[in-house]
Amino acid sequence: EWIDFIFFYNRIIDRFEMTKQQNVTFERKLPDHSAFVEIDEDKLTQVLDNIISNAMKYSPEGGRITFSIEEKDEFIVVSVTDQGVGIPKENIDQIFERFYRVDKARTRKLGGTGLGLAIAQEMVEAHGGDIWATSTEGKGTTISFSLPYVRSEEDDWE
Ligand code: ATP
Ligand code: MG
Repeated sequence: EWIDFIFFYNRIIDRFEMTKQQNVTFERKLPDHSAFVEIDEDKLTQVLDNIISNAMKYSPEGGRITFSIEEKDEFIVVSVTDQGVGIPKENIDQIFERFYRVDKARTRKLGGTGLGLAIAQEMVEAHGGDIWATSTEGKGTTISFSLPYVRSEEDDWE
């Protein structure tokens, strides 16, 4: 189904913003026009739920979460950036593995099974995209994924 990803992303961010119990600030860096992609809405909702819940879970009191979309030629890149504990370089590729959790002691109190990102990866790849992480320990983490995108012809006519 073709949907405007900007509208879709905003609606999911709104839901987290309205129900959040933590002191975190949300910032959106999104295009002010639509970007149509062909996706399964339920699956992409789960992808974003998993990524955003992690960002909330690992955010410090008073932290900021930044939501962005960049339009490339053939992809859009969707990112969620937090100011949390970060992920050590040597573990960064493993976070997408099933049941993998960086630091058992640290994450035990936060709960979870280590499946969220493995599921997100499976669903993004099923849509023909990629998912990756960049992080600096003690500073924060960005989880990004791409989705195939064809710029609408209307944009070229301007
Ligand atoms: P679940 O999602 O199943 O409830 P989980 O959150 O532990 O459990 P994943 O979402 O797959 O599992 O994440 C795997 C691990 O990657 C986490 O346990 C955590 O160590 C690390 N991680 C994921 N997102 C972040 C983040 N935003 N900041 C710091 N560490 C993260
Ligand atoms: Mg998770």
